[in-house]
Amino acid sequence: MELVNDEERIYEFVTKRMGVPQQIAEKMLDKYRKLKEYGDVFAPDAKRVPFDTYINNLESVLKQVLAELRKMRSVEERRRWILENVKLSTPKKVSGREGEEKIYSWAIPAFLTCPGYDEFCIAMCYALKNRYAVDKRIIRSRVINFLASLLPEFPEVMVRKIEEVVRKTGVPIFRLHDSGNFYTISFVKHMLEKLDIDPRELKELLGVDLDKLPEDCYVLQWRKIVERLPNVQFYTYTRTWRLLPIFKSIEKHLLPLKNFVLYLSVDKPVAKIENELRDALELAKRYRNVKIAWTGVIPPPGTVYAICPYELGRILNNPNIQKTCTQCKICAYGKIDVFFPVH
Ligand code: SF4
Repeated sequence: MELVNDEERIYEFVTKRMGVPQQIAEKMLDKYRKLKEYGDVFAPDAKRVPFDTYINNLESVLKQVLAELRKMRSVEERRRWILENVKLSTPKKVSGREGEEKIYSWAIPAFLTCPGYDEFCIAMCYALKNRYAVDKRIIRSRVINFLASLLPEFPEVMVRKIEEVVRKTGVPIFRLHDSGNFYTISFVKHMLEKLDIDPRELKELLGVDLDKLPEDCYVLQWRKIVERLPNVQFYTYTRTWRLLPIFKSIEKHLLPLKNFVLYLSVDKPVAKIENELRDALELAKRYRNVKIAWTGVIPPPGTVYAICPYELGRILNNPNIQKTCTQCKICAYGKIDVFFPVH
C-alpha cells in the first residue's frame, strides 16, 4: 500500500500506538480518505439519522409535552409533574453492563441546549444518532429534564436523586450531559422560536419567565447541586468553552469546586484550530480540574493523553480491552487528557 504524508503518520499511529492490526488500520485509512473528501476529518457516518428527522421529532415531542401541561390545572400541578418525571440515564458506554456497578448521567436535548454547536459536532454527536434521534420516549425524557432544569426546585430534586443512585450503586460519580450541554437562556429562547414554540408559553404554564432568568441560570443550578454533594465526583465534556460568557460562568461557579472536572472538547483537525488548540492547552494548564478531550483520526503531535479504552476496544473488537467509564474512571477524576479515535 502506498502512503503519503498524513496517511503515513496515521498508519504508524494506529498500528504502533493503538495496536490496530493491519487490516483494520487500512479500513481506518479508507475512512480518513472519505472524510477528507468531505472537507474535514469528520463526516456523518452511515448509521446517521438525517438531522432534520431529529429536529422534527424534537419539535413534535416538545409540542406534545406542552399540550399535556396545558391540560393540567395549575402551575404547581405542572411543576410537580415535571419534577416527578425527571430521569437520570445510564448509557452503555458510561454505565457498563447489567449487574455491574454504574455511573449515572444527566441528559437534556442535544442541539436545543448546545450553544457551542457547529457542523462538525452535529456530524459526530452520538446523541443525534440512531435510536437517540428517533426514539420519542428518549427525546421526551430529555425534554422533561430540560424543563425541570429551568425550575427553582431543580437543585433540590437532583440532589435527592443523585444521593439515591450513589447509595444504590456505591459509585460516588455523576456525569453531566451524555446529551446536551451548558446552555444559555438567550440560546434556548432562540432555539424554541426556531422550533415554532413561543418561549412566553413557559411563563404561562410554568411561571418561568425566560426574560427574567440570568443568562447562566443553568450553570448556577449545577453549582448548587455540586456544592451540596462534596463527596460525589462530577464530570462533563463541553464544546461551549469557546463561548466566553458561558465559560466565564463555569470558571466562576464550577471550576472552584474540588469535586468537578471539565473536559474541553477539541475536535477539528489541528491545522484548522491552531488558536483553539493553544487556548485549550492554556486553560488546561491554568486549572487542575480542566482537561482536554481530543477527537479525531490522530491527536495533535507533542500532546500527552490516554486513548479511551472504550473506543479502542471497539476498534479492535476486543472486549478484554474495552472498558466502560464505570470501570475506567479516567475522565471522572480528570486524570489525564483523553484521545477519542474516530473510526
Ligand atoms: S477514557 Fe475512560 S472514562 Fe473517559 S470516556 Fe473513555 S472509557 Fe470513559
